[in-house]
Amino acid sequence: MRVYLDNAATTAMDQEVIEAIIPVMQNDFGNPSSIHSFGRSARSIIEKSRKQVANYINATPAEIFFTGGGTEADNMVLRNSIELGVNHIITSPTEHHAVIDTSQILEKKGEIKLSLVKHDSKGYVDLSSLEELLESNKDKKTLVSLMHANNEIGNKLSLKKVAELCKKYKAYFHSDTVQTMSHYEFDVRDLDVDFITCSAHKFHGPKGVGFLFINQNVQIKPIITGGAQERNMRAGTENIIGIVGLTKAMEVAYRDLAEHQNHIQGIKTYMIELLEKTIPSVSFNGDPKGDSLYTVLNVTFPNSEMDEMLLYNFDIEGIAVSGGSACSSGSNVGSHVLKSIGTDMTKPALRFSFSKYTTKKEIDYTIGVIKELFSIN
Ligand code: PLP
Repeated sequence: MRVYLDNAATTAMDQEVIEAIIPVMQNDFGNPSSIHSFGRSARSIIEKSRKQVANYINATPAEIFFTGGGTEADNMVLRNSIELGVNHIITSPTEHHAVIDTSQILEKKGEIKLSLVKHDSKGYVDLSSLEELLESNKDKKTLVSLMHANNEIGNKLSLKKVAELCKKYKAYFHSDTVQTMSHYEFDVRDLDVDFITCSAHKFHGPKGVGFLFINQNVQIKPIITGGAQERNMRAGTENIIGIVGLTKAMEVAYRDLAEHQNHIQGIKTYMIELLEKTIPSVSFNGDPKGDSLYTVLNVTFPNSEMDEMLLYNFDIEGIAVSGGSACSSGSNVGSHVLKSIGTDMTKPALRFSFSKYTTKKEIDYTIGVIKELFSIN
């Protein structure tokens, strides 16, 4: 049996998405910047997609900028914020590398002061620590960049509360919503965020395509220059195939959202219950029974003889998961997220992440393999 439990890394393409892309590959090869009918037809597909995407999050089409994925969109915000006069970035040590590494690069270059928020014992962002940092840096122009849900441990953040704090201190607010876009409803008007980012391959769309939402109140400059595409914000011929795939993936996701949420949450709860029954000393990183992304479950296993080989043993049994700590990830670096929330890094941790395609049968098989690996009868 082959079981894919690494959906926070990437998801399988939906058949509906594949079917939407094929005719575009066959017929719509025109360059969207060309003025002849081939170009115009490609342009019209992109603008229709932009309108549809904007609609899903209650944005205007002019606020949607297609990118080459989540990392690029995050980079665009952080690097561009300097042009907006930002000289202070507040983020978290648990952010995705696209945000934390980029912030550290900007700090090293002397462009910004970098401040990191604290987390509570369950891994949630400590909002009072955020407010203290905003208060003590009132003389600076601040960008707050905090993700909506953590890709490793699943902890969620109240975007509304952070947006309110940012308004109070006149700071810009960016949220990396890569793990939550198309998994939850978004209303950017109600949330009042400045920037959010999206990556299509996290919700059964193609890789290498995403978008950046930039609130109409914020004017930023391009970082990729050399063409007028994306209203001068991102030069380069548009990835029309990717954009159509992203839009279809979003359409499917929002059409069937409640069904997917119920199904995947059910799978996660089922796995938690079975793990607790099978290995009483198991522990979970983050707060999987609290305000947690329903697709992600991060598990610390008891020490065993094959700590270093745990991930590979799962792989040999046909189960794809992600490593969470130095022992099991196959790297000697270890998870910066688990480290910063104070997880016991001597024990192996693995991230299981689910999708609408995950079945209880697959979870049963996985638990069977866990029993074998830990010699449980
Ligand atoms: N941000 C988060 C939270 C992610 O989980 C990922 C994907 O790994 C990214 C950003 C990067 O997105 P992409 O793979 O589209 O560059």
